[in-house]
Amino acid sequence: MGSPWSELLANLAVVAMFVSVWIHTHVWLDRWPAAAKAAAFGVLMGAGAIVLMLTPMQLQPGVLADLRATMIAVAGFFGGPVAGIVAGVMAGAFRTFEGGIGAFAGAVGIAAAMLVGVAANLALKGRRPTVVDIMLLGAAAAAASLLGLSILPREVLQRILPDVALPSSLLIFVSVVLSGLTLYQERRRLEALQSRRIYKAVVETLPDCLNVKDLDGRFIAANPATAQLMHAADAKALIGKTDFDFFPHETAKGFREDELAVLASGASSTIEQHLHHEDGTDGWLATLKAPFRDRTGAVVGLITHNRDITARKQLETELAESQARLGDALTHMADGLVMFDLDGKMVLCNARYRAMFPKTADIRVPGADYRDILRASAARGEGITPQDAVEEWIAEIMASQKLVSHRQVRLADGRWLDVRTRPTGDGGSLSMFSDITEAKQVEAELMAANEKLNLLAHRDGLTELLTRRAFDEALAREFARASRNAMPLSLLIIDVDWFKRFNDHYGHPAGDECLRVVSRCIEAAARRPADSAARYGGEEFGLILPETDAHGAFVIAENLRSKVRDLAIGHAGSEKGIVTVSIGVSTFEAAAAIEIADLLSRADEALYGAKAAGRDRVHGWRPHLSGQRSTGSRRKT
Ligand code: GH3
Ligand code: MG
Ligand code: MG
Repeated sequence: MGSPWSELLANLAVVAMFVSVWIHTHVWLDRWPAAAKAAAFGVLMGAGAIVLMLTPMQLQPGVLADLRATMIAVAGFFGGPVAGIVAGVMAGAFRTFEGGIGAFAGAVGIAAAMLVGVAANLALKGRRPTVVDIMLLGAAAAAASLLGLSILPREVLQRILPDVALPSSLLIFVSVVLSGLTLYQERRRLEALQSRRIYKAVVETLPDCLNVKDLDGRFIAANPATAQLMHAADAKALIGKTDFDFFPHETAKGFREDELAVLASGASSTIEQHLHHEDGTDGWLATLKAPFRDRTGAVVGLITHNRDITARKQLETELAESQARLGDALTHMADGLVMFDLDGKMVLCNARYRAMFPKTADIRVPGADYRDILRASAARGEGITPQDAVEEWIAEIMASQKLVSHRQVRLADGRWLDVRTRPTGDGGSLSMFSDITEAKQVEAELMAANEKLNLLAHRDGLTELLTRRAFDEALAREFARASRNAMPLSLLIIDVDWFKRFNDHYGHPAGDECLRVVSRCIEAAARRPADSAARYGGEEFGLILPETDAHGAFVIAENLRSKVRDLAIGHAGSEKGIVTVSIGVSTFEAAAAIEIADLLSRADEALYGAKAAGRDRVHGWRPHLSGQRSTGSRRKT
């Protein structure tokens, strides 16, 4: 029997071999369920324990010393309860099968190692073991092995313990630590591999370009997005190449200069780069360049991350263009335009709007509150504002902003503005202001012209009294009113005496002039607003006197007659020597049931009476005179 050291060292090689077998084969079992994989680990470790027991140091017949505890503890610790139990049961069964006086102690040692491994695994609660954990495991496994030895029969124990205790426990400790560290490294290697795989997947699927170049600008690594950007076949095609191989010289040179700047500064930077492809297309990139350092911290290359922002740039350009166009359109609009938001704050206005309000242009700016603008406008006397109710006026305008409205506003300086307001989708309002001063002037002129036209239609050209037609209308209107209100209405018919002779003697133009002068007297007799004087026809006139009874009408008629006399217009053809008039008066009284025609014919009859009675006089209608002559035969006009 050799030294326990050399015998057990040989055991160490077996442990290493089995651990190594696991490390090189476990990847084949990757697809197995976790429990099956653990069982396989247990079987391998159990087999290792058996091999160790086949090459043991035989301390005396039936008493074996070996490193089986290592295999069992490692199986339980790294493989979990399943692996630990599988390995322990295999080893225990084999040891029992071997037999000998140490069989029981061996089985106890195996069970203790199994418990140590499984308990240590469970104590980790899923966390990754540390080097310290592994050392503790080694110590516990060595202790478990000593426990096995300690229950050997006393005489055996006394004989072997001094020789075996130290080497076996030390070597178990060492072998557990070594194989533990190996498995621990393997686990870390796997984790690193996994995270590398994740990074690789992320980088490969990243829509942004990510690449690393060496100090000379040659690609060391690149993702597919980079290849796509550079119109290269694939990422591999980029390796060893530079931007000069893919972009026009000027573009590549620009990129290289950016890179050199980053390399020189040693700090990362973000820039926007304009891109011009060989095929003539253009683009924009948002690029992050960062120095790539080796373990020692020396810059050995450059990491580039860039995102294609061509579409964004295009949108930005389009937005800027359309904003400029809109601004242009707003500036050159003939109308003023203003927008307010929900709270009454101005959102925008054009220059024309501000020019329309020179007194408050300084505060009509975006951000201003409409209420403040209106207050200032009222204070500065810009519009025609009820000065004692400014706040009510403002409240009314603010309320109208929420509705579709169309109004015309007169400013203090005489200008007229047409304002169309409609609510906007966001609760604000949009108003268009047009200067309609000119249109208003034209409108006023048109109205004046209309009035004149009206006058022409209703006034006689020679005398400027109402025409016959206007007279008829006025008479109908006043007659109806008198009937309605049970008020009297009088009618005078005035005829110039011997006027044919006047014409004959003085000529027609003089006759016209005479009619004009007489007309002024008749017009003057129509003193009240509702009185209407008209040229009834030829040298005959009518005067309607509402709310005038027969007596009043006589007074007015007499007055008129004497006024004409007072004119003292020479009339050689008349026995009076001057121009005179005869006047017939008729009156409608509420009690009398007569029609307009009756009123007219009675005045006419009264006039006939005045003529017959010698002219230059006023006659009223008297029933007994009626029928003395035929009205129809006298009236020619
Ligand atoms: P009487 O006293 O009975 O009324 O006699 P008269 O001559 O005034 O009556 P008559 O009806 O016969 O003549 C009216 C004349 O008035 C006839 C016409 O020449 C004249 N006349 C009518 N209209 C005008 C006018 O617009 N201008 C002038 N100058 N004469 C007119
Ligand atoms: Mg006449
Ligand atoms: Mg006459």
